[in-house]
Amino acid sequence: MGLIFIIISISIVWVASLWKIFFSHSKSAFLNEGTPLHKKNVLLVVAHPDDESMFFSPTINYLTSKGHNLYLLCLSIGNADGMGSSRKDELFRACVVHKIQLQQVNVLDHPELQDGFGQVWNHGLVAQIIEEEVYSHVIDVIITFDSYGVSGHCNHGDVHYGVRKFLHDSSPGNIEAWELVSINIMRKYSGLFDIWMSNLDVMQHPSGVMHCLLNEHPLKSFQAMAEHSSQWALNRVSSDDGSDWSVLG
Ligand SMILES: [Zn+2]
Repeated sequence: MGLIFIIISISIVWVASLWKIFFSHSKSAFLNEGTPLHKKNVLLVVAHPDDESMFFSPTINYLTSKGHNLYLLCLSIGNADGMGSSRKDELFRACVVHKIQLQQVNVLDHPELQDGFGQVWNHGLVAQIIEEEVYSHVIDVIITFDSYGVSGHCNHGDVHYGVRKFLHDSSPGNIEAWELVSINIMRKYSGLFDIWMSNLDVMQHPSGVMHCLLNEHPLKSFQAMAEHSSQWALNRVSSDDGSDWSVLG
């Protein structure tokens, strides 16, 4: 009897989650709706090719659908397994799917910023590179990982601290910066059910401090990730994984 009650309860919540996702449209006012007068130059900073599709796809979909001008800075070619050249090409193909202008995609292969868990990136160097991007493209908004970096990859955390250092040392003060909030492993793999926790998170913060962006184009996200074919094989042993939800705070 108890088991039946649990199954029925889970089914009800699952159906309610589906309803919430498909019939309750995202009302996020993230970056002021992106009307022509408020169109912003947004810089997304990631560590490796595939980060943009695996972790930031809902964010990219939101920004492009609102008409913001998106720049992508990828700080390495992801050469930890010697496949950096292929991974760089995959990134550009994924950007085509995401409708990011290819001339606005910058992928670095700096000797001091190489992919790997044993590689510690100099936050000052990262900050300096970000500063150059910000001033050359008149960036209004920076988006990147939080200190944990969703999957816990140290390079993701280094990107976060590089952005922080830029904001602390060099930012003129009119630049908004947003981080993708990491969630615990239970929520990460709870699928549809996390919609409730993400919304609860947003409600617990002051208005405008945190946003939950519903992925309104999941097929496009899948197609973009499919371009990273080298990672479909590697993911069987990799801890790099993501969520369907972008929770920005
Ligand atoms: Zn990564």
